[in-house]
Amino acid sequence: MSEVVFIGTSDAFGAGGRRQSALLVRASHGGLLLDCGTTTASGLAALGIERDEIDAILISHFHGDHFGGIPALLLAALYEDERRKPLRVAGPHGIERRVHQLAAAMGYAIEEREWSFPIEFLELLPDHPTEIGPVKVHSFETRHQPHTHPHGMLVTAGRQRIGYSGDTGWFDDLPRRVGGADLFVCECTYNTPGFEFHLNHQTLVAHKPEFDCGRIILTHLGSEMSARRGNCDFETADDGLTIRL
Ligand SMILES: [Zn+2]
Ligand SMILES: [Zn+2]
Repeated sequence: MSEVVFIGTSDAFGAGGRRQSALLVRASHGGLLLDCGTTTASGLAALGIERDEIDAILISHFHGDHFGGIPALLLAALYEDERRKPLRVAGPHGIERRVHQLAAAMGYAIEEREWSFPIEFLELLPDHPTEIGPVKVHSFETRHQPHTHPHGMLVTAGRQRIGYSGDTGWFDDLPRRVGGADLFVCECTYNTPGFEFHLNHQTLVAHKPEFDCGRIILTHLGSEMSARRGNCDFETADDGLTIRL
């Protein structure tokens, strides 16, 4: 059995007082953090989740609300937890360089300290299924600002499959990419169409029959969608929501 905990469910701007994107997948052999927005350390603390539970961090794309929380988590693992076991950090092409640059810009340069645990960077190539810690990941490109190397993914944890859209506008192949997932966590920033690089409720309703997924839960909710929570055509996530698969 797997468990999914929504650590953060807002858009980039913390709409509705929510935290930025982060999702913990608890598999039988360990934990995977799917995205790590800048508010993730606070989210884990608020929910009473030990950082040590996380064996791997998997990043969908290089926007701050999806990977900005990595430097603080690394430092907390070193100074607060005295972590020993390896931490894998996986993501699109350039993940190691981007995390190093980010940490340096925040004043937490990775090179300047002695680590008590190995940090292993891993680049994910689309359509190359890869074992990352306790799960197998199949990533695919999405329709989002291209310079951020946007990807969605299908994560297999034991017998369960979890689809994740990352950030994306609509593209016709999306239902096939997450087809067969027990749970599809889909971004829905807006209520109505208007911006090509994010999804909206109206578009998802129109395409709902195309998704062959056990359960669909909307996340990355902007201000309109945050206000529509409980009053739309899909389930919506809240910070702290826990799903057993
Ligand atoms: Zn985002
Ligand atoms: Zn983004």
